[in-house]
Amino acid sequence: MSVSADVAARSLAGQVVAVTGGSRGIGRAIAIDLARQGAFVGINFRQNETEAMAALTQVRAAGGDGKLFQADVSRPEQIEAWFKDLYKETGHIDVLINNAGITRDAPLLTMTAKDWHAVLDTNLNSAFYCSKAIVRRMCSAKRGLIVMIGSGSAFSPRVSQVNYSTSKSALIGFTRSLARELAPHGVRVNTVAPGFTATEMSASLSQSVVTESLAKIPLNRWGQPEEIAAFVSYLASPDAYYLTGQTLVVDGGRYAFEQQY
Ligand code: NDP
Repeated sequence: MSVSADVAARSLAGQVVAVTGGSRGIGRAIAIDLARQGAFVGINFRQNETEAMAALTQVRAAGGDGKLFQADVSRPEQIEAWFKDLYKETGHIDVLINNAGITRDAPLLTMTAKDWHAVLDTNLNSAFYCSKAIVRRMCSAKRGLIVMIGSGSAFSPRVSQVNYSTSKSALIGFTRSLARELAPHGVRVNTVAPGFTATEMSASLSQSVVTESLAKIPLNRWGQPEEIAAFVSYLASPDAYYLTGQTLVVDGGRYAFEQQY
């Protein structure tokens, strides 16, 4: 890994970040923003190599560098292969962003076990596999950060999302418990929980869901991926070194507003 003089002056210079699902949407915005701070970014994707290449190009345009790796994060052996590759390339991984996620919405009565397991495996079990594969080395280094990308769905679930809402709610418990376990070793664990954010995931929602969502958001708009990424960069910055076990809700005020009832 070569680091230019310009990159060396930035706040995450010399740090290595692994982003699951970094090829599109929020994950891509996170990869770019962290690269802008000087990090080397390991970008994982599942199948869309064209989008992954575009993400890497943008990471380089932001003045950083990175490496792509195709792996299904619901498969522990594929995660281990990714980390092995990234450790070989860089020697260390300082920050893990558990971002990859999917939806498979359906009312409980018609939700298949396959769709239940697909969402839990991708959104929740992946966080267990990735964290488990990385914490020993983070603890030995006496530093590290793990960030979960949760969702406002943990607090204000839409109908037909018991799988998704369950996965995102569980990530909050996972965060709090792991943060407590790893704090004595200098490793922090936090969740960033976005509200509606303009990505491919949310692009397929019906106009009625969009209209209904805006009525519940005090700032009266959806978030942009870059606005979520900014909070992840904050968590990775020295300004947040005293923050662990927390869930930061970034949703235009929706959850705060709903709590009034
Ligand atoms: P997108 O659908 O736009 O992107 C999903 C990303 O995850 C892609 O890079 C995709 O890779 C990757 N991915 C999906 N499944 C796997 C897998 N099994 N293994 C590896 N990578 C995988 O989603 P968003 O950017 O919108 O969502 C990112 C995160 O933010 C998710 O956890 C989501 O739940 C959360 N979130 C999103 C909100 C929104 O409104 N958009 C709101 C709240 C939370 P590939 O391109 O190869 O398919």
